[in-house]
Amino acid sequence: MHQGRRIEVVGTVQGVGFRPWVYRVAKELGIGGQVRNDAGGVTVEAFGEPSALDGLVHALRSRHPVAAEIRSLQWEEIPAREVDDFVIAPSVPGTGRRVSIPADLATCPACVAEILDPGDRRYRYAFTNCTDCGPRFTIARDAPYDRPVTSMAGFAMCEACQREYDDPDDRRFHAQPNACPRCGPRLRLLDSAGKDLTSPDPLREVASALRAGNIVAVKGLGGYHLACDATSSEAVQLLRDRMRRDAKPFAVMVRDTREARKLASLSDAEATLLESLERPIVLTQKRRLGLPVAPEVAPDNPLIGLMLPYTPLHHLLLAEVDRPLVMTSGNYSDEPIVFEEPEALGKLRDIADLFLTHDRPIVTRCDDSVARVVAGAPVLLRRSRGFVPRPIQLARPVARPVLACGAQLKNTFCLAAGDVAVLGPHVGDLDQLEVHRSYEESIDRMQRFLGCRPEVVAYDLHPDYASTRYALDRPETVKVAVQHHHAHVASALADHGLDGPVIGVAFDGTGYGTDGSAWGGEFLVASATAFQRVATLHPIALAGGERAIREPWRIGLALLLDAYDGDPPGLWNFPAIPEDAAVLVRQALTLGINAPKAHGMGRLFDGVGALVLGLGKARYEGEVALAWNLAASPESHGRYPFGIDTRGSLLELDLRPMVRALIEEHLVGVPAARLAAKFHETVAHASAALVGLIRERVGHLPVMLTGGCFQNARLAEGLKAALEPECEVYLHRQVPPGDGGIALGQMLVADATTRG
Ligand code: ZN
Ligand code: ZN
Ligand code: FE
Repeated sequence: MHQGRRIEVVGTVQGVGFRPWVYRVAKELGIGGQVRNDAGGVTVEAFGEPSALDGLVHALRSRHPVAAEIRSLQWEEIPAREVDDFVIAPSVPGTGRRVSIPADLATCPACVAEILDPGDRRYRYAFTNCTDCGPRFTIARDAPYDRPVTSMAGFAMCEACQREYDDPDDRRFHAQPNACPRCGPRLRLLDSAGKDLTSPDPLREVASALRAGNIVAVKGLGGYHLACDATSSEAVQLLRDRMRRDAKPFAVMVRDTREARKLASLSDAEATLLESLERPIVLTQKRRLGLPVAPEVAPDNPLIGLMLPYTPLHHLLLAEVDRPLVMTSGNYSDEPIVFEEPEALGKLRDIADLFLTHDRPIVTRCDDSVARVVAGAPVLLRRSRGFVPRPIQLARPVARPVLACGAQLKNTFCLAAGDVAVLGPHVGDLDQLEVHRSYEESIDRMQRFLGCRPEVVAYDLHPDYASTRYALDRPETVKVAVQHHHAHVASALADHGLDGPVIGVAFDGTGYGTDGSAWGGEFLVASATAFQRVATLHPIALAGGERAIREPWRIGLALLLDAYDGDPPGLWNFPAIPEDAAVLVRQALTLGINAPKAHGMGRLFDGVGALVLGLGKARYEGEVALAWNLAASPESHGRYPFGIDTRGSLLELDLRPMVRALIEEHLVGVPAARLAAKFHETVAHASAALVGLIRERVGHLPVMLTGGCFQNARLAEGLKAALEPECEVYLHRQVPPGDGGIALGQMLVADATTRG
């Protein structure tokens, strides 16, 4: 007895070899009918014996291609038809439903084997891919995801490629970017003036140029990297000089995990993260002895960012060069990664000696993602290439589509429709015009991909953020300003599919408070709809306002004056504090002139780090705070005293006793590594004690740790350990704890507060 069923599958099912896979399963089961992409996912019409149809549904539910993610699967009976053949039908473009363009997928082992096999027709071909791997998001112009709407549209497949594409038993069956050396994109080698060197073998030439100490701009998946020999101090220093980047660490690409282990002592979790399909840059513990890369790669830093090759071009290049390469985003300072050829030639010509480029356009720029292992599990520090636009499943569908505009630094936006939220790629710090343009383009494109128009717009409470101005300029009428730390906590809620209430510990550098002051050491009792600020860090005066962030000695001085009631130990003990400027700044602090009070936990790290490490200036925001974090010896333990001020309705975490005790130890010569370790344990322990007090008042709620400070593994692990097992503790998992993940929380709050 024949039956008919229509099966609708929603999720990341396009561009991941899903239709060919359904085809093969249907054939095996003797089912007739068709499978097609539509704007919502994949639809299967199947005709056959009921047991075979059950088998198909079961297969769809239980096993499917690695990169596919099924969010829902529903079927209904349809009139039976006598069809023997099973076909892959052309896509039906549609509107108004959810689309899933997959994220870019790292080259699969089968493709890697081919490009390294001299007998294969794709030997050394840099654009090899299949249904399991290759570019997706970065080449897609529109949905549904099919070759004509990707940047592969301009390449006509040769006969051999077309055969693979049409053959259901081939692993390139319907691989949209399928290509080979005869018909696909080609590498080109340009000199720094942009002249085509018409090289017969660009890969080999680039490899020898790199070995000779040159800097090469390499066009990748989501933009240009600047590459140089990571083992050469001269090459790395040259790159630093040309980029005018004196301290920020560079990421290093190595051939495989075995090579990675020569550079870093990898835990199992770190190795897994490094090899994951998303291929993020993983921050790992640098080996202390016999490090085979130049110290200039990550100066004065116990960590090193490593990544594995994720495109065929990377695999070939690494094999050819046979040494670790610095692979850093091609840009100036915090601008977004350069991704178009004219732009690259213009902006990178003074940095790169050569350009290794190609003729497959990048549609959407997408920086590398960055992750690290915290408390045994991965935490994203930057969520971009490999993750975007993978949707985040919401516990409850949004009432109306929402656009959340993010914050200012490390901006990403979030677009939510139905029961999913999609975060855009990392676009950098929004204060630059360049960034702003890319931000707007990125939002427009994601709206097209999702086939939705937002009706609610969420933004940060800060009136001067570029994202706030952008939000207010948008045509939608429903706009919701969300307090920065409420958004952080809500982001953690959405990350875990929770609604609250919870106790949120939100520690970061700064965020605009409801009273107009700078918050950042906050304890909130919060749900998606509302929050109450129940405790905060005792504030620190920022002499000179924003200037104090670049000159953390000012914060150090303020900490001393505050901790010692205006009578600190001799300032000559602290070389970070410049003698000439100290008098004026001290006066300003004493009189409270141009010295706004700030609650940011990050500022405490800045200030203490400046005093103890003698680092008066930060070359990039948060440099000194990071140095203070990294200074902490993993072997040292101990705590300083602290106080909790319970007099007001707003509890206050008072770390002045810690500052005094720490400074006294510093003055008698206790090493910074010990002080920093004790500092971290004190902050963790004091925060846990404060959470304990809050729980006595509001009940035993779960605790969310959120905000940029929780990228700090020592702090996150210390506080988590201090709270457990009494509390249920959540760290971020799908989005960064810092401002790169904040749009998700803005979205959640905006939806919760505007649904009637
Ligand atoms: Zn492949
Ligand atoms: Zn071909
Ligand atoms: Fe923040």
